[in-house]
Amino acid sequence: MLVLLMAMLSLSLVRVPASAQEPVRPPLLLVVPDTDTTVTASATYRLSGSTLPGLSVRLNDKALHVYPNGVFVGLLRLEQGENRFTLAAVDSPDVAVQKEFLIVRKPPLTSTPRDTLAIDSVMIEPSQDLWLNEGDLLRVQIKGTPGCTATFLNGMPMNEVVPSGPNGLEGIYRGVYRVRADDMWEEVPLQFALTDSGGRSVVRASSGRITVRPGLFPMVGIARGERPYLNYGLGEDRLGGAKLSFINAGVRLTLTGKAGDQYRVALAENQEAWIPEQQVEVQPEGTPPPFSLTGSWNVYGEKNHDYVTIALSDKLPYASFVEGNPTRVFVDLYGAVSNSNWITQHLTTREILNVSYRQVEKNLLRITVELKHPQVWGYALGYRGNTLVLKVRRQPERLDLNRLTIMLDAGHGGTNDGAIGSTGAKEKDINLATVFHLKQLLEAEGAKVLLTRQNDTSSTNSERLKAIIGSEADLLISIHSNSIGNTTDPEATRGVSTYYRHQCFRPLSQAIYARVLKTGLMPFGNVGGFNFTLNAPTELPNVLVELAFMSHPEDEMKLLDDRFRREIAERIVEGVEDFLESNEE
Ligand SMILES: [Zn+2]
Repeated sequence: MLVLLMAMLSLSLVRVPASAQEPVRPPLLLVVPDTDTTVTASATYRLSGSTLPGLSVRLNDKALHVYPNGVFVGLLRLEQGENRFTLAAVDSPDVAVQKEFLIVRKPPLTSTPRDTLAIDSVMIEPSQDLWLNEGDLLRVQIKGTPGCTATFLNGMPMNEVVPSGPNGLEGIYRGVYRVRADDMWEEVPLQFALTDSGGRSVVRASSGRITVRPGLFPMVGIARGERPYLNYGLGEDRLGGAKLSFINAGVRLTLTGKAGDQYRVALAENQEAWIPEQQVEVQPEGTPPPFSLTGSWNVYGEKNHDYVTIALSDKLPYASFVEGNPTRVFVDLYGAVSNSNWITQHLTTREILNVSYRQVEKNLLRITVELKHPQVWGYALGYRGNTLVLKVRRQPERLDLNRLTIMLDAGHGGTNDGAIGSTGAKEKDINLATVFHLKQLLEAEGAKVLLTRQNDTSSTNSERLKAIIGSEADLLISIHSNSIGNTTDPEATRGVSTYYRHQCFRPLSQAIYARVLKTGLMPFGNVGGFNFTLNAPTELPNVLVELAFMSHPEDEMKLLDDRFRREIAERIVEGVEDFLESNEE
């Protein structure tokens, strides 16, 4: 909450809003920072807020530029320690509304002084619990007094890392150990020792504990939950780790290790993945790992889809990817060995031209499915019993909006506001208002339109995804509005952008991007490989449009203008039409 000092508030500060729809705005609204005390390691911090149009704003007695709609933004330079700010909206020399806020800049990490012998509490690796297997590399790290001798595991040497530059940290020590067959540790913290030239030593233990138990691995797990997935690695960002594949519940997995709350999954000789522990049910010791010979294949068409089915004796993990020219869907089946001596290809297929396979490694069978059209219209992979089913959506017979169903997703909603503009405008409202324009425009062209939300209600992206996949819609368009983080300059970043995750859906995002740029918004980019939940489905072509930046004053002004929202919706529809046209035969 903000400290509000009402110093000499006069009635003249309360203005009547220009239009009835516009909410009554306070004379001084501070959006970022959003608390009266903020702690950061950054040397800069974003300022975003607004006053009433016509008032001037001072920050620590220095005048700020105020945009015509009352918005002011800036990038605050921070000294180390406490930085106090007084923000004032000024109507006349003796009438002002003030807010005070404090930003504390934490000191950066520095090298440990050479005259104190210590292992610091920061930067110790492993920082999370690890379950390791014979042959695994255990990587360790400490930070402490430079120029000493560091060891772990009762004498294993560590090396002091050369600082990364003139101001780089000194006293970082790293070591590595390969786990042996006869190691046995049960939730043991690692002990580190640092010894100076005079023979004095200090010791410290890692917070991460190590477990190495002979016979523990391989374990077998069964995937469970709504939409379990495999991550490539342990990397995390605000969108979650990069995902290799969504898999069906019931898929059996070989587990060979654990780091923190993720199990390591062995896929093939040279491929592994990670799965969150809550998505796996570990099976009793002695359960055989997933393996299957492939049985008979069937390739056929029905209604709007073509199918490839492969009989297996076990639910094996899988992943897929797509290439263009010619258009091909590849399915990697892990733990499978070919025993298929015929592939029956029926004449009923209309999209699938050809199906073949290759045993890439001893535990990796790669299935290649060649499609007729350059554009992939979606496919789903999953199990019917122990039979793997690839369901390929055919290109719609007529690529006219009046023959298609379009799913629109207005980002956020309910308790989830999304980004907040300097005027206090909420992203969820702008997204929904734009989606309503889109709906109207698409329906005017004869399209059937479905919405993931009709009003200001909360639903998670996973719930939306379920509805989208169940809908059999032909295309999905997600609408969001962008924002920068809290430590960068809000005036430096603006513009419109479109996003896709799978290469095969890029053309839709490119077609829309080309059209929305005609609104005069700055180009922010056409972004691929985007790890956003609603860009994840392969079931239908999908795109995310980030209309503009809520954090940029002029972009926000546009986003708040309903005529502008109508215009960008018109451009998005034109982009969809371009996309359809480019795929006509
Ligand atoms: Zn958003």
